[in-house]
Amino acid sequence: MRDSINKKDGGVRWKLTLFAYRRLQHAVIAKAVEYNVPVVFVDPRDTSNVCPMCGARLNYIHRLAYCLRCGFIGDRDVVGATNIWLRALHAYVGGARVTPKRPRNEQ
Ligand SMILES: [Zn+2]
Repeated sequence: MRDSINKKDGGVRWKLTLFAYRRLQHAVIAKAVEYNVPVVFVDPRDTSNVCPMCGARLNYIHRLAYCLRCGFIGDRDVVGATNIWLRALHAYVGGARVTPKRPRNEQ
């Protein structure tokens, strides 16, 4: 699919990328429902730019992030994944859970 995407113009290429992303998203949701795992949607904006330890803006040397406030050092992808996890945890605890609800025992 990627080879065919590279031959298309920008608009079509973007739509195909979104299509592939949506397919992956649906597959993940289907598995989560199958195994009764909660799904939380998170806004990924700025997840690589904020320190997961103290919330300050990170600085970068190539892919290595460092925080001038608390001294945190980490890989860009690890920082992004950690911040996404923290946002999901916060949303989950805050009640923004999206998936499968267990049947309640009504009285
Ligand atoms: Zn920090």
